[in-house]
Amino acid sequence: SAEGSTDSVQTFELGPEHELRFEVEGKNKVIMSVRAGMAEVFGTELVKEKEYTFLSGAKIAVFTWQGATIELRGKAEGCYIAKETPMVMYLNCHAGLEQLRRKAEENSELHGPVLMVVGPQDVGKSTLCRLLLNYGVRMGRRPIFVDLDVGQSHVSIPGTIGALLVERPAAVEEGFSQQAPIVYHFGHKSPSGNIKLFNTLVSTLAECIKERMQANRKANVSGVIINTCGWVKQSGYRSLTHIAQAFEVDVIVVLDQERLYNELVRDMPPFVRVVFLPKSGGVVERNKAARSEARDSRVKEYFYGLRSPMYPHSFDVRFSDVKIYKIGAPSLPDSCMPLGMKADDNKTKLVQMQPGMGILNHILAVSFANSLEEEVIQSNVAGFICVTKVDPERQMMTVLSPQPRPLPQTLLLLSEVQYMDSQ
Ligand code: ATP
Repeated sequence: SAEGSTDSVQTFELGPEHELRFEVEGKNKVIMSVRAGMAEVFGTELVKEKEYTFLSGAKIAVFTWQGATIELRGKAEGCYIAKETPMVMYLNCHAGLEQLRRKAEENSELHGPVLMVVGPQDVGKSTLCRLLLNYGVRMGRRPIFVDLDVGQSHVSIPGTIGALLVERPAAVEEGFSQQAPIVYHFGHKSPSGNIKLFNTLVSTLAECIKERMQANRKANVSGVIINTCGWVKQSGYRSLTHIAQAFEVDVIVVLDQERLYNELVRDMPPFVRVVFLPKSGGVVERNKAARSEARDSRVKEYFYGLRSPMYPHSFDVRFSDVKIYKIGAPSLPDSCMPLGMKADDNKTKLVQMQPGMGILNHILAVSFANSLEEEVIQSNVAGFICVTKVDPERQMMTVLSPQPRPLPQTLLLLSEVQYMDSQ
């Protein structure tokens, strides 16, 4: 939108609890700094006079509790100050979590709150998770962030689910530091791609998180914040109730949708608190193209870094040196299955692929598993490579990899997610 777009330098005076919102588009960038007062971006405190640079695709809210003077340089789109925000309600939600954490601190039989954020697309679920994690970590907590949004993952690349221990606030420009995340390969952009597999991975991740919490008292007291994807109808809804069960959630925050709120109040056991919170008017709706662009830039960031550039390696791999699998065989009717097996069991089967042009530009997850005897599906993945060239004659492919050759493991899992390397 041309209206409210700024060029060069602009200064904004924000009153208490006001929020400056802007976006960055095209090849532009915006440099933001706090000139006076105190302000935060999605729960991360800003350092006065420090310059923060936002690149294309950024949709930012600079919020202040006390009032602040903010300076923007560059071309900011749709720039305005909002005086109405749900931030006080979000802060109250954080205060509620703190109360539960204090109880857990005093009683070693309790653990900190496990909270799940649900709601349709574009209501600010990821942003609320980031806010609650930041507020927690600013109180000295070490919460675990679980991201089950396979379309727009904030822990790893699209097509995965994962978790990380949050030890410091998210970087303003880059988000949470991704050191040692737990990542499982799913291979689709929506849970609907293979709902049986999705639920299996959710259960596996939930078990893994429970073990980690048992082993880490601080994380155990701090609790878990779970982000989910915006698919909230039929099987999507059932998968939300499965997540709630698997992670034994204590609190569900429903953003924006009263129908979903009522359904969960009806279906959840009484010890699960279901809370309704409004969405922020600042959340920007993204169309299909914008979502797909966001996925691309996520994969690009994985290989090339965001601000501090990384230099991925490109090398040839012989087909005969690797084994490529897809998870899930086409389902047969139950009547065609061997006795005792259900058609659904096929959905978590490994199916070996003949490498060919079909894998060009696809992401492959490098499994930690050495052989099929191990539980390949339930293993954390070592990382990802991208197939940039396929040569059927020489029986070779060229891959992009964050690590130099050779591949750490040779068992590769095919993802539906594609990336065109144009660097
Ligand atoms: P999805 O279901 O697609 O994962 P979501 O519900 O998780 O979406 P977010 O990713 O949190 O939504 O928010 C969508 C976009 O809106 C993000 O780019 C985020 O930076 C932006 N955004 C969130 N809150 C605000 C705000 N108050 N002001 C301006 N932009 C915002």
